[in-house]
Amino acid sequence: MFSTMVPKKQQEKGIVSTLRPLILFPMSKNKKYPIEKSEKKWKAELSPEEFKILREKGTEYPFTGQYNDHYEDGTYLCKGCGTPLYESESKFDSHCGWPSYDKSIEGALDMIPDHSAGRLRMEIVCANCGGHQGHVFNDGPTKTRLRYCVNSASINFIKKLN
Ligand SMILES: [Zn+2]
Repeated sequence: MFSTMVPKKQQEKGIVSTLRPLILFPMSKNKKYPIEKSEKKWKAELSPEEFKILREKGTEYPFTGQYNDHYEDGTYLCKGCGTPLYESESKFDSHCGWPSYDKSIEGALDMIPDHSAGRLRMEIVCANCGGHQGHVFNDGPTKTRLRYCVNSASINFIKKLN
């Protein structure tokens, strides 16, 4: 039924999945991003840990990241390309060991269904460079009910100027 609703060309490209996400957001798979760089170039620009996480979808150890326990006023940017992704007002203490936000800056992230852990999770990536951020879960304690669980190695912080 769904196949009749989506142009065949888009299905072939993998732009549209027949699997509906838990959360209704635009998603993408094998998408071309505004910023595309060779593996060699990313490796030259990122530390080995950042490369592993941002480009190879790795995960840092919980409670080890620079921004896990970080609550200053400002904006968190993609470490791959500098795009603003989260505002500090969205950050909350989830006790899960990774920086957690209850929303992202609108349009800043893409979501991709991820079956790698033997269950469906929604991976979040920077919509500008495709850099892996982490996953978003619908078990958040705030009114958005969302928990964007992010690697510190995937982000930079810029303090708000008063
Ligand atoms: Zn990015």
